[in-house]
Amino acid sequence: MHLSRFNPLRFAHLPTPLEPLPRLTQALATSPGGGPELWIKRDDCTGLAGGGNKTRKLEYLLGDALANDATTLVTQGAVQSNHVRQTVAAACRFGLECEVILEERTGSNAVDYTQSGNVLLDELMGAKIRRVPGGTDMNAELAKVAAEVAERGGTPYVIPGGGSNIIGALGYVECALELVNQANEMGLEIDRIVTATGSAGTHAGLVAGIAVMGADIPILGIGVRAPKETQEANVYKLAVETADLLGHKERVTRDMVVADCDYVGAGYGLVDQEVIEALKLAARTDAILLDPVYTGKAMKGLIALSRAGKFDGETVVFLHTGGAQGLFGYQSVLDGNLE
Ligand SMILES: *Cc1c(COP(=O)(O)O)cnc(C)c1O
Repeated sequence: MHLSRFNPLRFAHLPTPLEPLPRLTQALATSPGGGPELWIKRDDCTGLAGGGNKTRKLEYLLGDALANDATTLVTQGAVQSNHVRQTVAAACRFGLECEVILEERTGSNAVDYTQSGNVLLDELMGAKIRRVPGGTDMNAELAKVAAEVAERGGTPYVIPGGGSNIIGALGYVECALELVNQANEMGLEIDRIVTATGSAGTHAGLVAGIAVMGADIPILGIGVRAPKETQEANVYKLAVETADLLGHKERVTRDMVVADCDYVGAGYGLVDQEVIEALKLAARTDAILLDPVYTGKAMKGLIALSRAGKFDGETVVFLHTGGAQGLFGYQSVLDGNLE
């Protein structure tokens, strides 16, 4: 698989570590079948202003942006978007301007949510921020801002929410390659990969990468927003398009895309007691800092499925997609729940 021909820029700290989770494994060994052996792929350590999964995507997206002589990145996300933080950081690194549109998607007016966490870091890095109400047509907003940039003589480069298009997804094709190489070097046999799945680029890139390699490792996406049918359809479409870009569209089959969307709770970015329990368990066993919106929900699912015996005897790699910076945007939700 020849990824260099897409000319990614290199700024992520790679390869990210692949580590065992001995104490979390022990804590989940309560099912009669003994539970899974858990490992973690540390994509929270990709290095760009706090890192996270968007950094790998941005290596390919920034390569494309500079090849197109962009002056200004334009993107969108929720107020506590990790994607927006990493995009703003990438713009800084390459001397570009960055226009961001933040959607008030959760309806929260808490000052920590609206001012701290990721959005504080966006401001620190000099992003030009506009806020719009929940339910706004964000693609239309992106087009509007891009037109404004062009009107004042700039060259906009629009990055969709989550950086999830075929170019961004190449970052997770590369992650799949990196992970399988690491496992081979360590003599580790991976039975399953578990990841949070949202705007679909991470999940789709992994599926395309594993499929094109012929590695035959099942991937379970745990949904954070959309229902299962929608999520799987989005991931499948993007995985096929990404594999097509690599010249191997036929290798991605529909059965390779599995999302479990039973752990979303009340909605995107809304935290429930099981999410808080998941944040606490990961922190108090192997000192892993998860986030409330994505990895906390994915871990909520991983814990429930492990306890239900679904992964008994398997070696499961949890992809840590980052986001701990968002914890500070949820301080008022966590306060009083951490004893
Ligand atoms: C964006 C994000 C995800 C989801 O990745 P997608 O590619 O949007 O599906 C997962 N975890 C964190 C921390 C994220 O910021």
